[in-house]
Amino acid sequence: MSGVAGAGHLEIDLGAIAANWKMLAAAAPGARCGAPVKADAYGLGARQVVPALYRAGCRDFFVAHPGEALAIRGVSADARIFVLHGPGEAPEDLAAAGIIPVLSTLAQVSTWSALGRKYGRLKAALHVDTGMNRLGLDMAEAENLPGNLGDIDLVLVLSHLACADIPGHPLTPLQLDRFRRITGLFPGVTHSLANSSGIFLGPDYHFGLVRPGAALYGINPLADKPNPMRPVVRLTAPVLQVRRVDAPDSVGYGAEHAVAGPAVIATVAVGYADGYPRALGGRGVAVVAGQRVPIAGRISMDLITLDVTALPPGSVLPGTEVVLIGDGIDVDELGSAAGTIGYDILTRLGRRYIRTWTGAA
Ligand SMILES: *Cc1c(COP(=O)(O)O)cnc(C)c1O
Repeated sequence: MSGVAGAGHLEIDLGAIAANWKMLAAAAPGARCGAPVKADAYGLGARQVVPALYRAGCRDFFVAHPGEALAIRGVSADARIFVLHGPGEAPEDLAAAGIIPVLSTLAQVSTWSALGRKYGRLKAALHVDTGMNRLGLDMAEAENLPGNLGDIDLVLVLSHLACADIPGHPLTPLQLDRFRRITGLFPGVTHSLANSSGIFLGPDYHFGLVRPGAALYGINPLADKPNPMRPVVRLTAPVLQVRRVDAPDSVGYGAEHAVAGPAVIATVAVGYADGYPRALGGRGVAVVAGQRVPIAGRISMDLITLDVTALPPGSVLPGTEVVLIGDGIDVDELGSAAGTIGYDILTRLGRRYIRTWTGAA
C-alpha cells in the first residue's frame, strides 16, 4: 500500500479506544459497559476495534444491521452481540449464530417467539421508545407486553435518549421517568438507557448497562466542557505539489479564492471523495510544520489546497506531512466547522486512506 502516491494515512489508536472504554466503564461503576460498534465501529474498523474492546473487558456489542452482527460473531463465545434493528429478513441466521436481536415492534416479538417455539427459547432485547419517536415499542405496547412474551428469553430492556448531550433539556428527565415505569414492568432483566453523554448525567441514568459509542472513539460527550476522552484518530497526508503564485490570481474551482501574491499554495491528495467535508472549502484548517494554515479555495473530489505563505520559505516541500485530524484539530471541531457533528466525520472517513491500527493491547 505504501506505493499509493500522496494518499492520506489514517491512524486509529486501539489503545486509546480501550482506555476510553475503561474510563467510561469506571464512570458507571454499578453497570456493565457495552460498546456500540455499528457502522463498522463508527467508521474505524469493527474487525480491529471489536477484539481490542473485548481485551479491554467489553462483553456486550451493539450493531445496527444483522449483517454487521454476523461479520463480528467470531469475537468470542462469551460476548453478546445485539442487533438494534431487530431480527431482519433472515432471523434463522441470527438464531443459529446466537446473536441477540433488539425487538422494536410487536411483529418482531411474534417472529422471534415463533422461532423460539421451534428451536427452544431464544434470547432477545426489547427497545421501548420513551420520547424519541424513532424506534421501539411505544409505552402502551410495552405496558401490555409482560406475560405475552411467548417463547422469548428476555435479557435486556433498553431505551435511547434524544437529548443527553443538551444540558438541562426537559425531555431527558421525562424519558428517565418513562423508562423507570418500563423497568418496573420487567424486573429481573438488565435495563439500559445511557449512551455516551447519558453516562455523564449521573447514576440515575446508568441502570444495569450503559451503551457509549461516540466517546469510545474520541468524540466529546460533554457539551461546552473540555473533552475527557483520549483522541483516537489521526489523519495525515503528504504534500503532493507546492506552487508559488506571484501575481494576483485565484486558487481552485470557481476561481473563488483570490490571492494577492506572492503566495505559496500546497496541494494535498485528500478530497471530499475521502469524506473530507466539502463544506470546509475556504474555512477548514490543517497543521503543517506545527502551524495552523488555512484551506484556500474549494475542496475538490481528490485534492485540497492550503495557503502556506506564512510558513518559512522552503519549509513546505513535496512530501511534507500535513495533519488534517490531530495536533489539536479534533473531529468535533472539524464537524462543527463543516456544519455537522464528529459522528458524521468519523463514519465518512474514506476508503482510500492507508489505514493503520496502533496501540493494540
Ligand atoms: C448509536 C447508539 C448508541 C450510542 O450512542 P452515542 O451517542 O454514540 O454514545 C446507544 N444506543 C443506541 C440505541 C444507539 O443507536
